[in-house]
Amino acid sequence: MHELAITESVVQAVTERLPGRPIACVHLEIGAMSGVVADSVRFCFDMVTEGTTLEGAKLDISQPAARCRCRDCGAEFEPEGAIALCDCGSADVAVLAGQELRITSVEVV
Ligand SMILES: [Zn+2]
Repeated sequence: MHELAITESVVQAVTERLPGRPIACVHLEIGAMSGVVADSVRFCFDMVTEGTTLEGAKLDISQPAARCRCRDCGAEFEPEGAIALCDCGSADVAVLAGQELRITSVEVV
């Protein structure tokens, strides 16, 4: 499961950076086009954090909307779902936003 590995790497990054510090809250940004399902990360989080300094920590996920620009007609639009397709029929689009996957901040107890 993709999200399990991602959740593990988030937890690992926090514990390596803040060894021995109890964590109250982790803020994540998961873009709409990142291919990562936020609910699955939430589900994995409790399991992965068990026995770590993140056990019981809150997980706050924000999901920035995706934004694309068509290379053929120049239109900017918000794609529906993970597949970007312009109204003009072109799939040759540049993704401007929505592929984020990062820890924005961590709150220590
Ligand atoms: Zn277009």
